[in-house]
Amino acid sequence: MDTELQRHYGLLLGVSSPWRVKNVELRLAIKEVEIELEWEWGKDAECPVCGRACSIYDSGPERTWRHLDTMQFRTLIRARTPRANCREHGVKTMLVPWAAPGGRFTNLFERFAIDVLLASGSVSQACGLLGIGWDAAQKIINRAVDRGLDRRELEGLKRLGMDEKSFKRGQSYITVLTDLDGGRVLDVEEERTGEAAQGVLLSLTPEQKAGVEAVAVDMWEPYVQTIKQELPQADIVHDRYHISAYLNDAVDKVRREEHKELLSRGDETLKGTRQLWLYNPENFRSEQINEFERLKDLNLKVARAWAAKETFSRFWEYESEGWARKFFKEWFVWVTRSRLKPMAEVAHMLKRHLDNLLTYLKHHITNAVTEGLNSKIQSLKSAARGFRSFANYRNRILFFCGKLDLYPL
Ligand SMILES: [Zn+2]
Repeated sequence: MDTELQRHYGLLLGVSSPWRVKNVELRLAIKEVEIELEWEWGKDAECPVCGRACSIYDSGPERTWRHLDTMQFRTLIRARTPRANCREHGVKTMLVPWAAPGGRFTNLFERFAIDVLLASGSVSQACGLLGIGWDAAQKIINRAVDRGLDRRELEGLKRLGMDEKSFKRGQSYITVLTDLDGGRVLDVEEERTGEAAQGVLLSLTPEQKAGVEAVAVDMWEPYVQTIKQELPQADIVHDRYHISAYLNDAVDKVRREEHKELLSRGDETLKGTRQLWLYNPENFRSEQINEFERLKDLNLKVARAWAAKETFSRFWEYESEGWARKFFKEWFVWVTRSRLKPMAEVAHMLKRHLDNLLTYLKHHITNAVTEGLNSKIQSLKSAARGFRSFANYRNRILFFCGKLDLYPL
């Protein structure tokens, strides 16, 4: 006859026939409760592969699962799981309703752990809150991502982003594929090679690939070549934020050279002005505005470089490709005749890629979405030291940035 406590825990765990609560052991001193579950012998077992009713081979070894705490008591479930003797599949351990095969936690605990991980955004903090170790957390993440990838729908992908991200303090890189419309990371590969670019596209079927209309990407040849090969119908859209970074770098090069030149004559005009030439004047403080106005009128090379950079930003605002081409042509002539070598170099690079700059006017996509996700990836990176394998890192990125359905059933 079941005691009140057994009935209580039976209800709490949602355990129903042929499983029953056999025993409840309260360990008050260590605030722990262990619930022993038992299979009602005489019932048929079910093969975990085919679902066929089979005879029971034996009762299987005893196992323990961590469950959600009850009344702040650490709660464990203990049971022997019968092994089914299937005519077709042989001796197999039955599935249990409270946990996934091979897991050390119950489904409810895993569900809660996933919520805590997502809410804290930090594995170490979640480990502390849950009272589990890093290995256990990583296994929960890995199982969750496996489930999520199995269930993931990739129909209707239209606009993708492919971007590199430095990993392990800038020495090595990863390639990140993003669904720009869904704001989710689709996959991650080591390195920033053509193979890596192919790797992140592997999870897409030929039909899904054929549906892609545009890919935002930096002017990075291995990526561009792979996209042309794998997604030949898709427009390549060079990312405007990468392009403004190239222009900013060129302006800064001009400033450094000119500053050196002026200093050799004892002129400190450009001392401490680096920021002024890089940021949008709309964001300046008033003293910066004054200084900037003064510098702009001194006929400095860096001021001309800055003007060229600022003027180029109009390119992105054209609606007609024809007018944008015309604008570019004029801008190109101006910049290449300006005798500002770093600027002219960028202008030549942009000219070579002009067709894939103009695609922006049609699709208006950038990797800015990826950049947002990148700051998340960045925070995972800082905790990534000591990662045993890239696979774990990939899973963490997909766990936090993949918008996957992570929960156990
Ligand atoms: Zn079977």
